[in-house]
Amino acid sequence: MSTTSLFDLHDRVALVTGGNGGIGFGIAQGLAGAGARLVIAARNREKNQAACAKLAAQGAQCSAIEADVASKEDWQRVVQRALENFGRIDILVNNAGILLGKAAETYSLEEWQSIIDVNLTGAFLGAQAVYPELKRQGAGKIINIASLTSIFGSPFNVPYTASKGGVLQLTRGLAAAWAKDNIQVNALLPGWIDTDLATQVRARIPGFNEKVIARTPAGRWGKPEDFAGVAVFLASHASDFINGAGITVDGGYSIAL
Ligand code: NDP
Repeated sequence: MSTTSLFDLHDRVALVTGGNGGIGFGIAQGLAGAGARLVIAARNREKNQAACAKLAAQGAQCSAIEADVASKEDWQRVVQRALENFGRIDILVNNAGILLGKAAETYSLEEWQSIIDVNLTGAFLGAQAVYPELKRQGAGKIINIASLTSIFGSPFNVPYTASKGGVLQLTRGLAAAWAKDNIQVNALLPGWIDTDLATQVRARIPGFNEKVIARTPAGRWGKPEDFAGVAVFLASHASDFINGAGITVDGGYSIAL
């Protein structure tokens, strides 16, 4: 196999939750660039359509569907739509996520639950929803977007931290469970990436922008496009013997004192 064909995603179908913006869109663009057909699933119809239009302008086939990842019924619709439009699913990127930062002692049960529902339960429901199709095809790739808070404690976002710790362990559990079906499940752990989600944190914590830049060996915030290459790698044959890994995409943030 040539090196190029190792990374080739032509004819593969990738489902990206939260693919209408931020890191998810960076990943969708990367997968589209390697030839994949895309299904974008997120709640906001206009943002979904705009993202698909941008991907189509780059020559990709794209289908958008409004869905809440925390809803099992919505997952059934998403899978049905992908199969109707493209006839198969090869790659699932569980990227949709929310963050609500405040003092740990002030979260309501509803706030805790909504963060766990979207970030952790949503990824589990997504994996369960695509599993029959991946198993039927005899191959599949699942990429979960975890966080550096999967390994570090964050005092600012405790429920988020708990959910992302769960995402990394979900990744390892599913990787071990479904290796027999030739399904690889891996996680990406982003450092600080300049998206709407991070803007919220930056606005709340004085001096945070400068702190991130000073602490990151690369000397900058990450960008959504920093995820394109590693997503193609984890979605392609190039990573067939990599399973249950958590790969940091953080400009070195997690390895420097
Ligand atoms: P954004 O806020 O820019 O994007 C989040 C995406 O998730 C949006 O497309 C949003 O679309 C979608 N989304 C949110 N809730 C739901 C839901 N219930 N159902 C379906 N889609 C939903 O954030 P990022 O791009 O920064 O985050 C992407 C992932 O990366 C998240 O899992 C986040 O936790 C993780 N991450 C981000 C970091 C960063 O520094 N930015 C650091 C570490 C991890 P819509 O509103 O239309 O539903």
